[in-house]
Amino acid sequence: MRIYNTRTRAKEDFESRLAGKVGIYACGPTVYNHIHIGNARTFLNFDMIRRYLAFAGYDVTFVQNITDVDDKIISQAKQEYGDELASGAMSPEEATQLVAQKYTDAFERAMSDLRMLPIEPPGAYAPRATEHIDGMIEMIALLIERGYAYEVGGDVYFEVRTFGDYGKLSGRSLDDMRAGERVVVDERKRDPMDFALWKSAKPGEPSWESPWGRGRPGWHIECSVMSAKYLGDSFDIHGGASDLIFPHHENEVAQSEAATGIRPFARIWMHAGLLNVNKEKMAKSLGNFTLLKDVLTQGYDANTIRMLMLGTHYRKPLDFSDSALDEARAKVERFANCFRDAEWAVRTADVSEPSEVSELARACDECETEFRAEMDDDFNTAGALGAIFELVAALNVLLKEKAGALPDADAADVRHAATVIEELAGVLGLKIRSNAKETAAHAGEQGRAALRLPDGSAIAPDEDSMSSLRDSATALGLTVEREEDLVLAVLDKRAEARAARDWAASDAIRDSLREAGLAVEDTPQGQRVTPILSSPRDLAHGSS
Ligand SMILES: [Zn+2]
Repeated sequence: MRIYNTRTRAKEDFESRLAGKVGIYACGPTVYNHIHIGNARTFLNFDMIRRYLAFAGYDVTFVQNITDVDDKIISQAKQEYGDELASGAMSPEEATQLVAQKYTDAFERAMSDLRMLPIEPPGAYAPRATEHIDGMIEMIALLIERGYAYEVGGDVYFEVRTFGDYGKLSGRSLDDMRAGERVVVDERKRDPMDFALWKSAKPGEPSWESPWGRGRPGWHIECSVMSAKYLGDSFDIHGGASDLIFPHHENEVAQSEAATGIRPFARIWMHAGLLNVNKEKMAKSLGNFTLLKDVLTQGYDANTIRMLMLGTHYRKPLDFSDSALDEARAKVERFANCFRDAEWAVRTADVSEPSEVSELARACDECETEFRAEMDDDFNTAGALGAIFELVAALNVLLKEKAGALPDADAADVRHAATVIEELAGVLGLKIRSNAKETAAHAGEQGRAALRLPDGSAIAPDEDSMSSLRDSATALGLTVEREEDLVLAVLDKRAEARAARDWAASDAIRDSLREAGLAVEDTPQGQRVTPILSSPRDLAHGSS
């Protein structure tokens, strides 16, 4: 496997520090607002990297931190809890903690909507900065003791001149940086590029006790401390968005290597490309952002968003637009339709052993080989998807040729090809088996109840639909305790009616589900329910 290393500016053969194990640290969100689709791209790419390393046989430890103390969170807390803070009803610590928790919850919900692998021990950790303040104080004290940092009036700065390699990761000299950055003159700093490790407490801000008085940590130190805690002083892969290379990652290297004396801090630095809108970086500060949750409520599902993101190499910029989303959705439909056609074609066949010589069997082998080769080449997801699409095309050809009369020998190959497509797409987090019309639920936040369909996908009818469902349930004499059981209970009732050949009742129930925005179809496998959506574009843009 070859991976591009920002540190050496070259693709390198990947050799993990410990045989068979990989440690990855990816910088996580600052939880002061909902994430936009550009942030989502970075997280999705590191989820893809984590998934593929595991598929390739590595025992992966994945760490993605939550930055829950920061200027932006403090200012959001002042906005959301201004009155409580002014009256003293709430302390700055409480207000920032509430904001951080609210957006941490929103982040976790968004990640699960995008079908990211859960970040849970063992094997994955999502440490919060505020839970590691002691470790940060310890590292800062060590940096002062070793002569890399100094304290002035309750603030502590890292002195960049003392660290010879400063600038190596981003490829910039101190002189370039001084010229390139808009440096605010601060008399107390020994060099304008010196950066804060600890900031003395200001009124209205959360603060912690430290040897330098009350204050809070700078942003960079948390990642040095938390990566060491979970992965050790030197580990395999450190990642983040490419706009973190300088100053965040440059500063992490300086802090960690100065504190431990161990080099390199991270053996490989991986940086994900940014998401652009009209060739400009998507950023909250530029006002050109689209929130991930809005894309999801517009009816674009996890498969579509993943297909869009993974269609471009993780290091390259990606242009985001509605038409790009629609193209991605069409690709997902091609996968899903082919998969469904294949399942349908083999439904009655005996599919014991696939042949080893048929054209389709060879296409399966080629697909698997090609998929691995592309992914082994610095995670070329676009190429890997291309390999799956070739198999989809080969399978479609065969299904068309043999329409209506599939011999058992071919059926085994068809089933095998469908399985290969499902498995390899699954490595990329695409869930082909679920209906392409699956929509994501934003249950708690908007006071709606999430519903789970029989195929496991989630839907979130609006309040009107929910109340119409509740009415039909009552009319049917059903008492349903949990709202999420409502749809299934109504479907069970319909199945009963059909079993009793009471077509009028069955149709009436189908109509009431339709009222609630759910279409019911009778298939040989039972009732299939799909949410009825207007076209996403209508939902997204209204009449414009
Ligand atoms: Zn970081």
